[in-house]
Parts: sequence; structure tokens; C-alpha cells
Amino acid sequence: MAYQFYTSTVVNIIDETPTTKRFYIKLPETVDFQFKAGQFVMLDMPINHKHTTRSYSIASAPNNENIIELIIVIKEQGSGTTYLFSDVKIGSSIQVSQALGKLFLPEVLTEDICFICTGTGVAPFRSQIFDIFKKNIPHQNVYLVFGNRTQQDILYRNEFEELAKKEPSFHFIPVLSRETPESWGGKIGYVHEVYKDLFSDVRPAWFYICGWQLMLREARQNLETMGYDRKRIRFEAFD
Ligand SMILES: Cc1cc2nc3c(=O)[nH]c(=O)nc-3n(C[C@H](O)[C@H](O)[C@H](O)COP(=O)(O)OP(=O)(O)OC[C@H]3O[C@@H](n4cnc5c(N)ncnc54)[C@H](O)[C@@H]3O)c2cc1C
Repeated sequence: MAYQFYTSTVVNIIDETPTTKRFYIKLPETVDFQFKAGQFVMLDMPINHKHTTRSYSIASAPNNENIIELIIVIKEQGSGTTYLFSDVKIGSSIQVSQALGKLFLPEVLTEDICFICTGTGVAPFRSQIFDIFKKNIPHQNVYLVFGNRTQQDILYRNEFEELAKKEPSFHFIPVLSRETPESWGGKIGYVHEVYKDLFSDVRPAWFYICGWQLMLREARQNLETMGYDRKRIRFEAFD
């Protein structure tokens, strides 16, 4: 399949943590750029590599501004991220593909939905969660089980905490593997214990998982062992 690429402009870059940046990219005015929450784009970069494209989930909810937000973590010696972090500045041009992928929300949210992710795997879920609440899509409980190492790694922490205060149906559950009960009053460990506990009654629910293969494989296996149908488990692997 030949992908359509658009010459776009980086309109803002924000340091989210010491290793992640938010990139705000404006598609050309002439393009009616449409995407569904959960999709990703490819960036085609002038890098010295056999493969010049890299995929990034859109972290913002669909809007009418032709601007998308990406949240990207630097990979040591990674060709794409090294280019993005050192050569790309506000005002730089960048080649962005049409929206791709099929990690869509269910047609109707008549059951609980549990998003499970680590690190930048939160990107498509941020888009979907804000899509649900901005559009007032009828829903049940929405859980975000978000694994990281330390408190400073929790991406979008403030806005998820704010949303949880405002919306009683939204449950933000960060779980940290390198904190201690003295340093962190929340969940400690890995995401797996959290969703297993939350859904120990195996009530009807949808599960969305995103991040690196290792976590993803374990989560899918656990959910199936608990008794969930694999059709209820949707996922996107970043590697
Ligand atoms: C659907 C999807 C969404 C993603 N969303 C995000 C996101 O929101 N945020 C984020 O930080 N990361 C995301 N990623 C990961 C991202 O695409 C890059 O893999 C990551 O940024 C590292 O890129 P790099 O060029 O720095 O590393 P590199 O090590 O240079 O390249 C990493 C990837 O490039 C490709 N590649 C490199 N070399 C080869 C080769 N020889 N043959 C074939 N393929 C090769 C492979 O896909 C490889 O995994 C996503 C990945 C996918 C698939």
C-alpha cells in the first residue's frame, strides 16, 4: 500500500519528562486530515537508515484544528528519535502520513473499559479517553492502568488527575515499579496485579493494551486465563 504523506510543520515541542517530548504538528491547511481516536501516523525522516519511517500514535483527541500531538520517548542510538530530539525544532517541516491503524473504541460503551499501558503506550488511550469525555459518549467505568518506573515518568499526570476529579466514571491508576511505600502512596509494582484485582469478578468489559510486546503478551495471556474472550482484548504493540 502506498501511503500518502503531507509536508507538515512542527508548531510546538514541550519537554514532558527528561526522556520524552510532546511534538505538536500542524498538517497543511489544504488537507482535511481526519483520524479516529486510537490511530497512529508515520513520520518519514531524512535519516541514514534502510527504513526511514517510524510510527507514532496520536496522543490528542480528534479536533478541527488540523494539529496532532505526539508523545515520543528517546531511544538511545535510535535513528528516528535521535533525529527528532536533536534536529527537529519549532518551525521544522516534517513528513506525516495519513492516519493509520484500527485500534478503535467499541461502537457502544455499554460495559467497563480498561486501558492498560506503560510509558508512551498511553498515547492512543489519552486520545480515546479525552474523545469519550469531550464528546460525552455514553459509557460505563473507564479505567486507565498506567505502569511506569517512578513518579517523574508519569506522562500527562496532572491532566489525568484533574479528569479523575471531575469525572467520577474515570479511574486513573498509576502503578510504579521503582517507588517505595515511603515515597509513593499509590500502587507499587506492575500493571498486571492491578487489572487482575480490578476485574477478579470477570464482569463483562473491554480491554485495550498498548506498549512493548513483553508487557502486552503477559497481559493478553493473563486476561485470557481469567476467562476473557480474546475478542474483548484489543492491543497495539510499539515494537
Ligand atoms: C503503531 C505504533 C505506534 C507507536 N507509537 C509510539 C508513540 O506514541 N511514542 C513512542 O515513543 N514510540 C512509539 N512507537 C515506537 C516508534 O515507532 C519507534 O520504534 C521508536 O521511536 C524508536 O525509533 P528509533 O528510530 O529511535 O529506533 P530504531 O532502533 O532506529 O528503530 C526502531 C524501529 O524502526 C524499524 N526498523 C529499524 N531498523 C529496521 C530494520 N533493519 N528492518 C526493519 N525495520 C527496522 C523497526 O520498526 C524498529 O522497531 C510506535 C510504534 C508503533 C508500531
